[in-house]
Amino acid sequence: MKHVHNKRLIIVGGVAGGASAAARARRLCEDCEIIVFERGSYVSFANCGLPYFVGGEIADQDSLLLQTPASLKARFNLDVRIKTEVIRIDRATQRIQVRERETGREYEESYDALILSTGASPLKPPIPGIDHPNHFVVRNIPDAEQIMAWTKDCLRCRAVVVGGGYIGLEMAEQLRNRGFEVTVVEASPQVMTPFDPEMAAWLHAELRANDVNLLLNDPVIAFEPPSDQEPAGASIVVLKHGQRLPADAVILGLGVKPEISLAADAGLEIGERGGIRVNGHLQTNDPHIWAVGDAIEVRDGITGHWTLIALAGPANRQGRIAANNIFGRPSRYEQTWGTAIVRLFEITAGCTGANEASLRLADIPFLAIHLHPSSHAGYYPGAEPIALKVLFAPDTGKLLGAQAVGHDGVDKRIDVLATALKADMTVHDLAELELAYAPPYGSAKDPVNLAGMAAQNVLNGDVSLAQWNEVATLDPAKTLVLDVRGADERAKGFIPGSIHIPLDELRGRLDELPRDREFIAHCQSGQRSYFACRVLMQNGFQVRNLTGSWRTWSNAIQ
Ligand code: FAD
Repeated sequence: MKHVHNKRLIIVGGVAGGASAAARARRLCEDCEIIVFERGSYVSFANCGLPYFVGGEIADQDSLLLQTPASLKARFNLDVRIKTEVIRIDRATQRIQVRERETGREYEESYDALILSTGASPLKPPIPGIDHPNHFVVRNIPDAEQIMAWTKDCLRCRAVVVGGGYIGLEMAEQLRNRGFEVTVVEASPQVMTPFDPEMAAWLHAELRANDVNLLLNDPVIAFEPPSDQEPAGASIVVLKHGQRLPADAVILGLGVKPEISLAADAGLEIGERGGIRVNGHLQTNDPHIWAVGDAIEVRDGITGHWTLIALAGPANRQGRIAANNIFGRPSRYEQTWGTAIVRLFEITAGCTGANEASLRLADIPFLAIHLHPSSHAGYYPGAEPIALKVLFAPDTGKLLGAQAVGHDGVDKRIDVLATALKADMTVHDLAELELAYAPPYGSAKDPVNLAGMAAQNVLNGDVSLAQWNEVATLDPAKTLVLDVRGADERAKGFIPGSIHIPLDELRGRLDELPRDREFIAHCQSGQRSYFACRVLMQNGFQVRNLTGSWRTWSNAIQ
């Protein structure tokens, strides 16, 4: 491997991607000069931990500081300059201009290689009244400190979280856990748009079960001061459909946009999604400048489209890859699957790859299955169902995406499925995966294996599927819903208009079923109704299995 000596590397942004690039660069080049410029007061801090610091789960602010300029100097011999903003790049002379934020002093530095890891800034759309001292974004430690200062004096505060992305949900959870009255307002019909609506519905249920006031489909149109008739507070959050929500504090979780002004002003190419455009080596259109993290566009591993991914894993890995490339170790960042996970009170929701919306947008044909397997062997205490959705190609069975929600075991299934996506696996491969099993951890057929097998059943023609959202549009003259659950389960609720024949009685009662109709069979999770489908198909009936069955349908329609 070629060794590079005496290079001068400058890194803009000293948190996830920047700090990772700097440390890797030092490991590859002991005698290079490495300078990190960070606009804020902290480097290498755990921004992902900020909500838990606000909520008190992380009690000590210092534990968010993974490194300091002094520790980075001691361990990696890095020259870290905090409170110093890079304000201009002169590509022709390979120099940058910086400004010290406290003194206003400006000076220049030259570089042989430059890495931009400028991140993404919270979106603040021009909603009237959005700027207010009690309206907070959550990006860095000073933001969290401001929210903490507000929460300290507040006993039964009313917080309105605007935006149901993962930062909004994590903040809602943490503020609710502190005993505050919390409302989540979301403009679209669901929270967490990487999830399909029926999967996001589990999150809606969990928010409501924890007394979070969830308002969907209702954008904020203004923030106003309270009138004389309204309860005192910081502001009134005015929604499109007329509600006026008194708030002592507002958390703005409206998403982020890449910080690209430095790059754009320097004439670096900006892509169609508004991020810095880089090649597979994370190099911009200037061969001396690399860019990583939330500020860049990356290729979606399923659709092939350019996309923006604001996640710590990609940023950290990209930092390492950029440093590799600068110091003679060619490495590539090929694509992303947007693998993400969020905890919301008692449940965990994880996703990887494409969802239905992104597949439709990219015109990629897909099939979807829903399952509700147990997190571990059902006979061992503590097993919990996982709502698992897997999307795959109807011809090859290639895995396209997965989503999972549940109380236990979601993280490892999503990570297995993310690994399978990276390895370009099919659902046939999922059925064959050899996964660790003992009763406290899994099942002899792990949920991932079961997903593969259920998908194979569809591809083999052993069963056809109906989706939860088809039920509302069925014409009873053509299609009937057949409930094959036990009487005790049906007593707790049923699909209106459905026929009830428990699975174990089905073979003896086939003559009760009209032969001129199609049937959609369902049970609680879709497994017994699959067995029913096999009985009916082999007896000449036209039948489909309601994938995910009662659990998916009843949760989704709430
Ligand atoms: P950042 O880490 O944001 O660093 C960019 C830095 O560049 C900033 O500190 C900024 O001050 C500095 N900068 C910008 N311009 C200049 C300039 N001109 N001069 C000097 N400095 C500059 N991701 C997950 O995967 N899982 C999570 O659970 C998760 N939770 C999160 C929770 C919160 C509250 C937040 C805010 C983010 C979370 N993320 C999470 C996202 C993750 O933190 C980011 O994807 C990651 O930090 C991006 O790394 P980056 O280096 O691109 O940008």
